[in-house]
Amino acid sequence: MKKIQMVDLVGQYEKIQAEVDQAVLNVIRSSAFINGPEVKSFQAELEQYLGVKHVIPCANGTDALQIVMMALNLQPGDEVITADFTYVATAEVIALLKLKPVLVDVNKDTFTLDVEAVEKAITPRTKAIVPVHLFGQCAPMDELMKVAQKHNLYVIEDTAQAIGADYHFPDGSKKKAGTIGTAGCTSFFPSKNLGCYGDGGAIYTNDDELGQKIRMIANHGQSVQYYHDEIGVNSRLDSIQAAILRIKLRQLDGYAKARQSVADYYDQAFSGSEKVIIPKRASYSDHVFHQYTLVLNGVDRTKMREYLAAKDIPAMIYYPVPLHLQKAYRDDRYKSGDFPVTEWLCANVISLPIHTEMDEETLRYITGHVLDFLNAN
Ligand SMILES: *Cc1c(COP(=O)(O)O)cnc(C)c1O
Repeated sequence: MKKIQMVDLVGQYEKIQAEVDQAVLNVIRSSAFINGPEVKSFQAELEQYLGVKHVIPCANGTDALQIVMMALNLQPGDEVITADFTYVATAEVIALLKLKPVLVDVNKDTFTLDVEAVEKAITPRTKAIVPVHLFGQCAPMDELMKVAQKHNLYVIEDTAQAIGADYHFPDGSKKKAGTIGTAGCTSFFPSKNLGCYGDGGAIYTNDDELGQKIRMIANHGQSVQYYHDEIGVNSRLDSIQAAILRIKLRQLDGYAKARQSVADYYDQAFSGSEKVIIPKRASYSDHVFHQYTLVLNGVDRTKMREYLAAKDIPAMIYYPVPLHLQKAYRDDRYKSGDFPVTEWLCANVISLPIHTEMDEETLRYITGHVLDFLNAN
């Protein structure tokens, strides 16, 4: 059996190797490394795939979030509501721009923003909500959009973990994750569901004016070369990454299916155990399983990881510390116990290997050892 990894990028590459190698070579031979035709083609193909008017490629997912907040002209002291249970990037850019991160707890089943908690956190200074589509599943966007409309707030979707997931509205219509709010932000970090071979990111929006502004901010605040209308940043997706992403975009739905069948296998194996809670599939969103995350019930997580590591099964903790208890984000407004769901999740979640290249032998091996441990502990 192949060495088990959280994500098998080599195995995935080998299946598209000829195509990728040729595409990379073509870019090198053309030497159109920056803003070349591959970037424009990728942008157009991603717009088409997502059904969104504007895709603005940029250097990474963190930049994507920052650029949107700059383009929306958010001002120091403006409050931005986001989830306490997320990757740090979401709160980091809020703090960097001297906006005020307002953290709220998440739903215990879906790990995404708790709508009631969001409503309670709104003040006259609130300007935006940043829902995080955590682990591959959308936050409850129809409810969040209603709240945002009522209070005239921007909605910036952090869809770094959920590219390709469909959101299902109560009227039966659907939209891709990231195309529902004011803007969506994604990451092409190698281990993401659509990963490039380095860093990359993109912003989506259906708003023409905002799209133009975002493009300008990402390009040193210029729309005409050497004429700078705003203070911007330098954030580009390079042509080699775009060429690779064009190939992988054609595989994305297949990749999602592969991940979903791993999740189905795990669900079936673990659903009978009282020692774990399997991930809940929300009725309103596809789950593209960026992570497969169990919540342990009275199980010693450290011991479990050690047990699995001894069997060469990696397992990760996403995320071990709630944002409000991180040293950099400590704030007089918050203390331990304020966000009970997030604190409970941080103490009890464990993510198992999930990727596009897993075979049944590996799954049998992993589930067998996980169950052995759970049954004995
Ligand atoms: C990966 C990730 C980001 C940041 O993306 P980078 O490309 O690494 O900057 C932001 N938010 C979430 C939820 C992520 O998972």
